[in-house]
Amino acid sequence: TTPILEIKGLKKRFANKSGWLQKPTFVHAVNGIDLRVFEGETVGIVGESGCGKSTLGRCILRLIEPSEGTILFEGKNISKLDKKEMVRVRRHMQMVFQNPYDTLNPKQTIRNILKEPLVAHRVPQEEHDSLLAETIEAVGLTVRHLSRYPHEFSGGQRQRIGIARALMLRPKVIIADEPVSALDVSIQAQILNLLQDLQEQYCLTYLFISHDLSVVEHISDKVAVLYLGEMVEFGEKEKLFGQPLHPYTQALLSSVPIADPDEQRERITLRGDLPSPSNPPDGCKFHPRCHACLNICRTEAPPMREVEGRMIACHLYR
Ligand code: SF4
Ligand code: MG
Repeated sequence: TTPILEIKGLKKRFANKSGWLQKPTFVHAVNGIDLRVFEGETVGIVGESGCGKSTLGRCILRLIEPSEGTILFEGKNISKLDKKEMVRVRRHMQMVFQNPYDTLNPKQTIRNILKEPLVAHRVPQEEHDSLLAETIEAVGLTVRHLSRYPHEFSGGQRQRIGIARALMLRPKVIIADEPVSALDVSIQAQILNLLQDLQEQYCLTYLFISHDLSVVEHISDKVAVLYLGEMVEFGEKEKLFGQPLHPYTQALLSSVPIADPDEQRERITLRGDLPSPSNPPDGCKFHPRCHACLNICRTEAPPMREVEGRMIACHLYR
């Protein structure tokens, strides 16, 4: 089957000009990512802040323009579509953000906020009321809430409204960027469960971006681990969390508490800080922090290979 979403060699460079006489240097926020997502899947994208995961999400929807690479939606190349054609594609691919309050107009009622995408995409007027009612109820609120304003809601309710807005056009793919990171842990679970229910109800495919591994473990079918704009490991969640192979994945996971006290993960401390993306190390970009670094790692970037049913970029697996 064709993936619903396929990304090939995606790159995003930002010019980084420090002084007016200086030549700009380039930061590769996303540096050649390949990813295939199939219908109905939830693919978690994890990595420390600054690893390029938000940039990747925005590039897929072309909210920021990729520098290189191809994006296929349902087999169709959308990377060269003009603005107007892209608007049509976005009907099928929506974004949910970390802090919905920033994107919910405080002067508008929830009804108007949710109607906005319907108007923008010329959904016939006579369908609006039923879509509004169905969607607000699908996210666990009621039609009575439609006449209220964003400030009248709690953080969790606002995220429900953010999700409702993304759902209004009945998209196929939702890219969620840290959708629960701003919420209390108890509310996080509610929103994650809601996202899972909605996935079944509306046959949604999720790209779920988060720095929080427990959250990603809870919701994902597959997980992609990013480091300095590159993917280092990608595979089924059970495999990746059960037996992480890439040293960076191992280090990330070793800091996540495990519920089962019989199970133990060796604690691996990440050495040093995340290097500046504008001046990444040679060879494997992770080598200055890696607990398993080989000589070759300092000079040669490891290619992506299939190892034990997953993709991994590391010289340890040859
Ligand atoms: Fe560590 Fe080398 Fe693997 Fe990079 S390629 S993660 S430095 S072992
Ligand atoms: Mg981010």
